[in-house]
Amino acid sequence: MATSPTTAADLIPSDAPLERLASIAAGCTACDLHRTGTRTVFGEGAADARLLLVGEQPGDREDVEGRPFVGPAGRELDRALEAVGLGDVPQYRTNTVKHFKWSEQRGKRRIHEKPNRIEIQACLPWLQAELDRTSPDVLVLLGATAAQAVLGPETKVTRARGRLHVGPHGVPTVPTVHPSSVLRARSDADRVAARDAFQDDLAAVATLLEQGPRPLAEDATVAELRAMTAALDLTVPARTRKADLVDVVVGALPR
Ligand code: SF4
Repeated sequence: MATSPTTAADLIPSDAPLERLASIAAGCTACDLHRTGTRTVFGEGAADARLLLVGEQPGDREDVEGRPFVGPAGRELDRALEAVGLGDVPQYRTNTVKHFKWSEQRGKRRIHEKPNRIEIQACLPWLQAELDRTSPDVLVLLGATAAQAVLGPETKVTRARGRLHVGPHGVPTVPTVHPSSVLRARSDADRVAARDAFQDDLAAVATLLEQGPRPLAEDATVAELRAMTAALDLTVPARTRKADLVDVVVGALPR
């Protein structure tokens, strides 16, 4: 019996553009999630979009429509982007895992289940291929699955959110929570607080787009600046002052 590949890597031609990748991904069976989701939900948007937004996986609505961020969490995201003036900025939107994973049906809705490490590893080559073929000014990582897949498993969104990081290809990157976390707040007051905090993180993205990396770099800790120099493959002496680290990072990042 033929076995499924361990990851999607072997399916991805090195020179295929995004449209071709989407059509190949439609037939991906690299992990068992092709059995739970109805269809592959690939990324959507132009390769030269200024913002690249990465979530966890498609939800119930996305699985039905075959498009990312068209359900309640997508509406929450739209609302937050609009609130900070980013509603009209061209975007490419995708997920870390391209099939919907769910555990049970409640009424008409299927209840989301978090993808496991094996499923994330299997699907990562698709995200990597999207990151390789897009050239955003800022990468926004929505939730722990996306943040850990892109920045490393040690990333804690509670600490990293709204702050400057360096992503693949040296792209300025801001992690934040997934918009579905706003919807899961237990009370109205909690929801308002979660929404405000989410918008604050996206306001940092707006600052990056409008003013470049310096304001966020100046807000970073020395440890964060050192992590950014490492991600940029820069070597700096151990005793370098914070102001000089800021200059080094800002000088290496695109404006
Ligand atoms: S989740 Fe990703 S790796 Fe798994 S079958 Fe779907 S597209 Fe392929």
